[in-house]
Amino acid sequence: MSLRSHQLRCIGSGERIAPETVSSDFRDPASGELYEVEYPWSESRGDAAATNKPNASALRHLWAERRDSTLPIDQSGVWRYRDLLPILNDDAHAITLREGNTPLYDLPRNAKALGLDFLLAKHQGMNPTGSFKDTGMTAALSVAAERGYQWVACASTGNTSAAMAAYAARAGLRAIVFIPEGKIAWGKLSQSMDYGAVTVQLKTDFDGCVKMLTDMVKKNPIYLLNSVNPYRLEGQKTPAIEICEQLDWQVPDHVIVPGGNLANGSALGKGFGELKHLGFIDRIPKISVIQAEGANPLFQWFTNAEKMLHPVTADTRATAIRIGNPASWRKAARIIEATGGWCEQASESEIALAKAQIGAEGIGCEPASAVTLAGLKKLLKSGHVQTGERVVLLLTGHTLKDPEYTIDFHKDLLATDIPEAAPFRKPPIVLEPNESAVMRALEAEMAVKV
Ligand SMILES: *Cc1c(COP(=O)(O)O)cnc(C)c1O
Repeated sequence: MSLRSHQLRCIGSGERIAPETVSSDFRDPASGELYEVEYPWSESRGDAAATNKPNASALRHLWAERRDSTLPIDQSGVWRYRDLLPILNDDAHAITLREGNTPLYDLPRNAKALGLDFLLAKHQGMNPTGSFKDTGMTAALSVAAERGYQWVACASTGNTSAAMAAYAARAGLRAIVFIPEGKIAWGKLSQSMDYGAVTVQLKTDFDGCVKMLTDMVKKNPIYLLNSVNPYRLEGQKTPAIEICEQLDWQVPDHVIVPGGNLANGSALGKGFGELKHLGFIDRIPKISVIQAEGANPLFQWFTNAEKMLHPVTADTRATAIRIGNPASWRKAARIIEATGGWCEQASESEIALAKAQIGAEGIGCEPASAVTLAGLKKLLKSGHVQTGERVVLLLTGHTLKDPEYTIDFHKDLLATDIPEAAPFRKPPIVLEPNESAVMRALEAEMAVKV
C-alpha cells in the first residue's frame, strides 16, 4: 500500500471502507456514525502502522524548506503539510487560497489579569475568508473537484458558506448554501454572495438546514461539504502542526476551542494525536471545548455523564456556534476525554466581556471565538487549568465577521450584566466640531481605568 492511499474508518463500528464507496451523507448506513480518514501509518492500523511511518525529522526539514518555495501548494499553510494529509490522487489538484499560516499572538494583559505566564491566541480568523473553515475547505473541496463534482453544498451558520463559496469559485464549481433565515452575521452572508454562490435562506434554524440538505444530497449529484465530510477535518488538523512548529516543537499544555458542530476540536485532537504517534512531539495537549450557554448540548452531556446527547434549541448571539444538535459530538467527546481536557459553557455576558478583552489587546475576534477566553476563566476557577500551564486559545473567526455585535456591545445594547464590561465600552461620541468639547471627552477617557 502506498503512502498516498487512505481509507475511511467508521468511528462507531471501526469498519473500513474505500473512499469512493462512502454514502453521500458521509454516515455509515448501518450505525449512522461518522467516518474518519485513516492512513496506512495511522495509529488505528496497529501493527501495519509501524512499518509505514513517515519520518518526523525529515518532514520537519521539508516543511521548513517549503516556506521558501514559490509554489502555491507550498505557500499554503495546509498543503505545506500534505505529507500528513495524502487525500488527493494528484497534489496539483489542490484548490488553495494560501490558507493557514496564521499568527500565534501573545495576550499579555489577559495573561496578567488571570495570573498566567503563558497565554497565546492562534488566530484562525486571519485566514483568507476570515475563519478557520478555510483550512478544512481547501482539503474537502479539492477532493470534490478531483472527483469531478459540478456542485458542492453546505448548511452553514455563515463561515462554512463563506469558505465554500470562495473555494468553489476558485475551482470553477457551482455552490449552493443553506443558511438559517435572519440568524446570521451580515459579513458572512455578504461573502457567500460576493463569491457567487447560490445563497438560500431557509426559514428554519441551522439544524433544520442540515436536515434539508442531507435529504437533497442523497438524491442528487451534489458533494456535501459540511463538517460530517471527514476531509474537512484533515485540513482542520493542520493548525495543530502549525502551533507546534511555531513553538519550536514545544507542545502547549492546554488548547481551548469553541464548540459548535464540534468538528474543529476533534480535528485538532486528530492532528496532535498524529504528531505524537509519528514522533514529532512527546505528549498531547489537553483539549477543552467551550460552548455558549444557549447552545450547550455537549456541556450537558459532559456534566451529566450520560451516554446519549440531547439536542437543544440553540440560542446565542455567537451565531457561529448556534447549533443544538452537533454532528461531531462523539468525536469531540472522545478527544476531550482522551486528552484530559474539559467542557465548559459561557453566558452571553461572559462572551461579550471576553470578546472586548481580546479586542482591547489589538487582536479582536468574532463572538464565537471569545468563548475560549470566557471558558478559560472558568477552567482556572475549577482547577481544570493551572496557572503554570501554557495555554493556547483558538480564535476561530475575524472580528469583522460580525461588526453589528461589536457595535451593540459598545452601545450597551447586548444587555450584559457584568460590571467589568463597562470600562471596555467605547461607543462613538457625537460632538460639535469644537476643540474644547473634544478635550473634555479626552479628559473623561483618561479617568477610565481598564
Ligand atoms: C464553525 C465555527 C465554530 C465552531 O466550529 P465547530 O467545528 O462547528 O465546532 C466556532 N467559531 C467560528 C468562528 C466558526 O466559524
